[in-house]
Amino acid sequence: MDTRADKPVIRNVRVGQGETIKLNDGPSPQEISCDDIAKLALAMHDHTYFFSLRRGLSIRFSRDLNGSGTQGLYITRESDEAASKLIVVIFEPRSKNDDNFLYEADLLMDGRKDYDPTINRGKCGFVACMAETRIDWNSDETVQWRSDIDRLSRSPNTLTGWIEADLEMLVRCGTRYCYQNAILTRSDLTRHVAAGLSLEDLKTRLKCTKCGTRGARVMAF
Ligand SMILES: [Zn+2]
Repeated sequence: MDTRADKPVIRNVRVGQGETIKLNDGPSPQEISCDDIAKLALAMHDHTYFFSLRRGLSIRFSRDLNGSGTQGLYITRESDEAASKLIVVIFEPRSKNDDNFLYEADLLMDGRKDYDPTINRGKCGFVACMAETRIDWNSDETVQWRSDIDRLSRSPNTLTGWIEADLEMLVRCGTRYCYQNAILTRSDLTRHVAAGLSLEDLKTRLKCTKCGTRGARVMAF
């Protein structure tokens, strides 16, 4: 009889498309799939600024890895000079009869030769063909990232809702090529609520300190 208790035995996990991998033995085995890792990495990429500023991570997308349109998403620690990858996901364009895809992006293809310029083949759905984590899926750090994503995925439609959901507000200038951004803390948001502003009021009042444009984009932070 096997009397071993549940324990996380695998630290590095590498899974291919459609595969799942069992993380532990015992009565309640936990399985993760290629898409589980890919979805976490993509959600973290959507909040790159948060994960850079608050979690010290660098999240990088490579759009055309080998001239065939393959894309790669890499998560490393900013403090790690060797840039050892914590998460790697490789995406490929979906095949014609595949209805499922994880995100849409331009399919860029570069022949890698001077006389073979990069071609944009237009919008395409991408699927994950390989995902790898080199950090334990149940480590305090990865659990924290998943709870960050849960929190950041909420988008209450009132200012009070933002405060109740424990969110700060990342404000980004809406002008192209103006990368100005600012963070409104919970106390800033509380002050605006106290002044009687609604979420819509606040959005219309936000004005870029660099280029003066109104109509900034706001994101959970
Ligand atoms: Zn601006």
